[in-house]
Amino acid sequence: MPETARRIVKLRPLFASLLATSLIASAQTLPDLGDASSNALSESQEKTIGNRVMREIRVDPMYLDDWEITAYVRSLGERLLAVTDPPRRELEFFVVNDEQVNAFALVGGHIGVNTGLIVLTQNESELAGVIAHEISHITQRHQARAMHGQRGAQMASLAALALAILASRGNSGQSGQVTEAAIMGASALSIQSQLDYTREHEREADRVGLALLERAGLDTRGMVTFFERLLRANRLNEFKGAPSYLRTHPLTTERIADMQDRLQPQSTALRMVPDSIEYRIARAKIRAMMGAPNEAVAYFRNQLSERTVVRPREEVYGLAFALCRAREPDEAWKTLAPLLNPEFTHPAFELLAARIRAEQARFDDALAIYRAALKAYPARRALVYGYLDLLLQRGRGKEALADLDERLRTVQDDAKLYELQARAYESSGQPLGRHRAQAEAYYRRGNLAAAVDQLELAVKYRNANFYELSSAESRLREMRVLLENERSAEKAMKIS
Ligand SMILES: [Zn+2]
Repeated sequence: MPETARRIVKLRPLFASLLATSLIASAQTLPDLGDASSNALSESQEKTIGNRVMREIRVDPMYLDDWEITAYVRSLGERLLAVTDPPRRELEFFVVNDEQVNAFALVGGHIGVNTGLIVLTQNESELAGVIAHEISHITQRHQARAMHGQRGAQMASLAALALAILASRGNSGQSGQVTEAAIMGASALSIQSQLDYTREHEREADRVGLALLERAGLDTRGMVTFFERLLRANRLNEFKGAPSYLRTHPLTTERIADMQDRLQPQSTALRMVPDSIEYRIARAKIRAMMGAPNEAVAYFRNQLSERTVVRPREEVYGLAFALCRAREPDEAWKTLAPLLNPEFTHPAFELLAARIRAEQARFDDALAIYRAALKAYPARRALVYGYLDLLLQRGRGKEALADLDERLRTVQDDAKLYELQARAYESSGQPLGRHRAQAEAYYRRGNLAAAVDQLELAVKYRNANFYELSSAESRLREMRVLLENERSAEKAMKIS
């Protein structure tokens, strides 16, 4: 058994060893598709692993369930994906609520960025630089290529990596297991360190990533300045232990010099790119959510005390957000109010305004803010969720249900809307509808087994409306087929 597999056994004895060893076994039976990079993992096999891992990650407590931040990171990622050659669209970007500085590409092609990395960036091009580098590991198929020639061991490593992430995440959110989580985290990282990209892969990801930044109209220097700062801070021991990012992506002064060389001749690519307001707000919001509420308040007060001429909107917003967290809604409202002027406002400010009003128990005012903001920004899902959530909290399930029916006619890809619909059905005593809606939510989060379970509960309500019942029955048949297909794909790869 290779070292990675042995370590994994220590982590989670039964599950881990089964997975690691069965993957070694399956590596010998994988089809040879001819070209070198597909020798070990075909794209559809990568996809199967990717779906399996994402299914676990989406329900993980560390998975950041914040539409505003995630939507921003996704839009930045998609801006870079659009200029890959050939353009790719199917990658999923997600944010991990973790102060460790890290970003990673999962086998199967999904990219996670830690909140700790986002707040460490000093401008949008720096964040884009890290994402472009991760995208390039995927488009250049580094993970799949790394397996060529040493398939058995590498397959185990891939499984170990996926598992290590799950193991370290799975326990971190539960109380009473902090120590265990810390040990698991350390083990997970030491496993990750064995999955280092090679220096050649790093150089290629830098080169391809820089080209993406340039084509997407961002400042190519962003990648260099961020990596430089990371390396310097690490040398000066400014992190508690080396950032996980540096363990998986070997960073050297040569790499930075290489990147700088690439920048020098084409000075046309060195452009000043102002940060988008979306970036500034996302970073401020993360900062306002970090640590103890009073520390976050102190941080923004301190930032703003240094601003004598202009008070940046995102910092005022950050202070108001932190004050609301600190249960000082009156102070929060006073701080935020000047931003609610039509000239300066932003949907994130309106969302916070409604939350502060609700915190002040001024619920009708909060609902009025939501309604007006939804008129101005109908596509802003964070406002939709906040509005419906407040209606449900106030016992206005019927109103929420009517609103949801309307929305679900045009938006069908939104798991959260179905979750809210399930709550609304529950509050109005409609169990079939509740299970049906919950099934649709699970389906959209890629959890077919849970969707089937919910539909099986739904069809037990034989006295329900005939139309609803037969619709749930046919949905159940569809989902069973999908689940069957997924299981046989996972079985073929021995990861089920
Ligand atoms: Zn890398």
